[in-house]
Amino acid sequence: MPNPLGIDRTRKALAELEAPLARAFAGARTRDIDEQQVAVARLADVATKLRAAQELAAWAESAGELYREEAAVFAGSVASDIARLVRDHGAEHGLTVADLPSEETQSFAREALAEERVRAIGRAVAAQRGRNDCPLDETLVLTRDAARSFAESEVAPHAERIHRGDELVPEAFIQKMAELGYFGLSIPEKYGGVEMGNVAMVITTEELSRASLAAAGSLITRPEILAKALLAGGTEAQKQHWLPLIASGERMVGISVTEPDVGSDVASVKCRAERATQNGVAGWTINGPKAWCTFAGRADVLAVLCRTDPDVSKGARGLTLFIVPKTRALGHEFEVVQPGGGRLVGKADATPGYRGMHSFTLSFERYFVPAENVVGGDAGVGKGFVLQMGGFAAGRLQTGGRACGLAQAALEKTAEYVVDRKQFGKPLIDFQLTQYKLGWMATQLAAARAITYSAAAAMDEDERAAAPYASQAKLLACRVAVAVTQEGQLLHGGWGYAEEYPISRYVVDALVLPIFEGVEPILQLKVIGRSLLS
Ligand SMILES: Cc1cc2nc3c(=O)[nH]c(=O)nc-3n(C[C@H](O)[C@H](O)[C@H](O)COP(=O)(O)OP(=O)(O)OC[C@H]3O[C@@H](n4cnc5c(N)ncnc54)[C@H](O)[C@@H]3O)c2cc1C
Repeated sequence: MPNPLGIDRTRKALAELEAPLARAFAGARTRDIDEQQVAVARLADVATKLRAAQELAAWAESAGELYREEAAVFAGSVASDIARLVRDHGAEHGLTVADLPSEETQSFAREALAEERVRAIGRAVAAQRGRNDCPLDETLVLTRDAARSFAESEVAPHAERIHRGDELVPEAFIQKMAELGYFGLSIPEKYGGVEMGNVAMVITTEELSRASLAAAGSLITRPEILAKALLAGGTEAQKQHWLPLIASGERMVGISVTEPDVGSDVASVKCRAERATQNGVAGWTINGPKAWCTFAGRADVLAVLCRTDPDVSKGARGLTLFIVPKTRALGHEFEVVQPGGGRLVGKADATPGYRGMHSFTLSFERYFVPAENVVGGDAGVGKGFVLQMGGFAAGRLQTGGRACGLAQAALEKTAEYVVDRKQFGKPLIDFQLTQYKLGWMATQLAAARAITYSAAAAMDEDERAAAPYASQAKLLACRVAVAVTQEGQLLHGGWGYAEEYPISRYVVDALVLPIFEGVEPILQLKVIGRSLLS
């Protein structure tokens, strides 16, 4: 192991790196984002990495030496990113050689990124078989242990079968998670939740996702999104009615925003809802297609974003969020027919990973919903976009947790494999390049976890203000999950491609993470870029 780099040097280097980035953002403020998309996406990436590096360094202060070394390596990589930003793209960002990191910081980066340091991290990670030993307070340790015990004993044994058979999440998982209070983690106690806060929610999600992203780790996301929308904009009667049902797991939720022709441009949603009366009940009928509605079959209610104002020029202001009840359906196709003739038809789209919940293309035909199911009541008409986006901010934070859990699983399985597998007469971990790869996998994951937990704590303080931060956590953690699972697969060689080894499942599961809840470029530009430029 080379001489450890003191955390003070790491923090000093990171503090210096803020200035050139701030100048680049200041320069970008004068132009529209869409006229400089590539530059803004690049800045969003570097700013996100810098923030993660700062959080990891803060964390490492009270953690062991391995964390301090990972913090130094990650900080070194950010210093090198910023040097590249100046050297290769300085003109686009209004930066000159004067913005290059100082000689002291460059020398720190060289030492931090020294191959031997990263390899030493890899060896240490292999020695502890990739286990997650991150420092947490006592309550959070209990939360993590409880979730881990449930996930390891009850989810993990079934994960492979559910994935390979494209089966539906077993009811037993839902029941047990309901008993453990997992659907009400961020719902206030007065509405039937356990209100443990966002950090506990992220840690729980992480542990469930470590066992299976699709069959457990993602079950909390949909209730979370609808609960946040209700808390932000529901009427008191709606909160009292729906939140206890969601928190207890009695009502499973699907979120239906995307349409076949409308994805990132949510303000253009076309699925129509029009006022109607049925059997003397005032309400709305929904007509139109929706796409990619995960868990729509098993769900008892769908949160559906519809256009209620036919004037399309109103854009986002013409959208309303509905809570749409439906009967449960357990297959890959379903049809719900209402007594009044309304129909909802769903068909699951086959996917290489993220199996277990099934994501459906839907068609609503004169599907009736009572007026009381408009989130926010009459005052909520036209407010659906804002409520939906508020819900997504919570969902993105949770997806940061999902990504960390999946990457953690990949790190552990890879660490075990490279210790056990021998080639050329020795274990794979004895090869320098294997040590280096494992060290970099662990370092990236530590940074992703640090920014995700820190964004969760910030969301506990002020959800609105921290929403772009949650998106940064999602951006980095999902990218890390893709990188770590793929590197892990490579380190498994041919067996990494065999279905029988879980790493092959982790790879296909991870690929979906940067796509949903705001595909990566939209997060870079419209959420993180916009927020950092504002
Ligand atoms: C397995 C799975 C589950 C899902 N679950 C749900 C769910 O439960 N509920 C739900 O509502 N949705 C769900 N989605 C949908 C998901 O949220 C969308 O796929 C995502 O928002 C992107 O929309 P899109 O697929 O239409 O891509 P598009 O919006 O067509 O974007 C495609 C690409 O175009 C580029 N692009 C688009 N706009 C811009 C721009 N302004 N500037 C620069 N580049 C741009 C980007 O590179 C982007 O990646 C799910 C998707 C998948 C794959």
